[in-house]
Amino acid sequence: MKIQAIQGFKDILPGESVCWQHIERIARDVFHRFGFSEIRLPMMEETELFARSIGQATDIVEKEMYTFADKGITLRPEATASLLRAFIEHSLHLLQPVQKLYTIGPMFRHERPQKGRLRQFHQLDAEIIGAEEPEVDAELIAMADMIVAELGIRTSLEINSLGCPVCRPAFRQQLVAYLRRYTNELCPDCRRRTGSNPLRVLDCKNPNCRKLVADSPSILDFLCPDCGSHFEAVGRSLERLEVDFTVNRFMVRGLDYYTRTTFEFIAADLGAQSAVGAGGRYDGLIEQLGGPPLSGIGFALGMERLVLLMQQRITARFAPPVRLDVFVAALGREAAGHSQVLVHHLRRQGLKAAMDHGGRSLKAQLKQAGRFDARYALIIGDNELERKSAVLRNMTDQQQTPFPLNLDAAEESRRLALLIQPTD
Ligand SMILES: [Zn+2]
Ligand SMILES: [Zn+2]
Repeated sequence: MKIQAIQGFKDILPGESVCWQHIERIARDVFHRFGFSEIRLPMMEETELFARSIGQATDIVEKEMYTFADKGITLRPEATASLLRAFIEHSLHLLQPVQKLYTIGPMFRHERPQKGRLRQFHQLDAEIIGAEEPEVDAELIAMADMIVAELGIRTSLEINSLGCPVCRPAFRQQLVAYLRRYTNELCPDCRRRTGSNPLRVLDCKNPNCRKLVADSPSILDFLCPDCGSHFEAVGRSLERLEVDFTVNRFMVRGLDYYTRTTFEFIAADLGAQSAVGAGGRYDGLIEQLGGPPLSGIGFALGMERLVLLMQQRITARFAPPVRLDVFVAALGREAAGHSQVLVHHLRRQGLKAAMDHGGRSLKAQLKQAGRFDARYALIIGDNELERKSAVLRNMTDQQQTPFPLNLDAAEESRRLALLIQPTD
């Protein structure tokens, strides 16, 4: 029996993982510039946490979670709930009034793989807890914008407000009244959502539903004075930070906990599944989960989509995964014995070094050095060992120079490291 990876779960192979590392490096760098600290979270939580935060009537909780029914635990379908659980559990607000946290890792949802969805997918997640000023919303959005821009990915930003518990009920009521008039024309999902989660109808992908909601009431006409001025201030602040955006009054989120500012980054080159990241404010959620009455805002960027967009742009840059500083080509038993020790010391010196242990010909070994894209090859045969002089070949211009050997591998490695300078 041939064992394969299960559907919706994917291996990230060496050529591709370089791209993942590159994205993570840039993201971490930007997170740190903005004063964020990393928090690492478990992948499983009590099922109750997600039901209470994401919402019972959401697609995620209704049908997409991997739950171990007998244990009452669930693989996390998103990061915010876990992060807030940890924030509350460890009273992190006592350490610092405003907490800026990020986490990177896999999430799990029972999606339909035939639609190209993965059941294990990965996110870059960032949250600011303890600040409710609109300037904070703009700063967080600008940070996501900076990550995407530094990856060289073109996106457009859409923002909206979802109001608050004061102003949303009136909007919701009007929206339901509007939708009831078209019940028979809505898709089956939206017919169900009209009762349970009517805001979700606004971002149904069904073309017929889209047409129907085009004339629906807009939340922006229902915002209370506080929500209205908050939304305006976010826009002004984004303009000051030179972050372009458009207002999309149909944008809602699949999660119940969002209030006020919501936003989405749409990739220019991705087609229908075009959001690379999204987020929003969730004032009230921390208290609802048993924590202090602090507001919060966060976003998640989808790693798989970022990788896809990066690969469309620059494939060549990521191959080969590791460029060697030096390949030691050993010819003969004595030379191979000395070379192994030398390679070990070269690595201690911070050089990316390799050799072949198969006793192959010089030609075959140099070919291997080429496959690793080695900068230098050091050729040591038993004769060279006896003469105490190896040959150092610059693989770029094929220039060869003698490299004196004294059979003290540690000393030789220090000398060679000075000569060829490790790359980073
Ligand atoms: Zn409001
Ligand atoms: Zn629909």
